[in-house]
Amino acid sequence: MMSTISDGDHIDGNGAAGPFSEALGIDATTAVLTCARCASPSRFAETHVYGGAGLVSRCPECTSVLARLVRTPTDAWLDLCGAQSVRVPLTAGTPR
Ligand SMILES: [Zn+2]
Repeated sequence: MMSTISDGDHIDGNGAAGPFSEALGIDATTAVLTCARCASPSRFAETHVYGGAGLVSRCPECTSVLARLVRTPTDAWLDLCGAQSVRVPLTAGTPR
């Protein structure tokens, strides 16, 4: 029997930060997405990410979709319409 993950099949944002970081050109784990539905701010690393046809990041508070990423062989399609805003901390010497 496989280990079960609580409330569905999501992984946390840390596990999906790579493709989002690549598409955004920033370290996605530290970005804060404010949910367009419940206005709750969440660090990307804390959002619930679901796989399937692309990656979907959902609000941990209300499960509304915050961001969607679909990769083709040549492009990354990023849909952020579920996020009211995306805050990206600007730090000197961004850790890699
Ligand atoms: Zn929400």
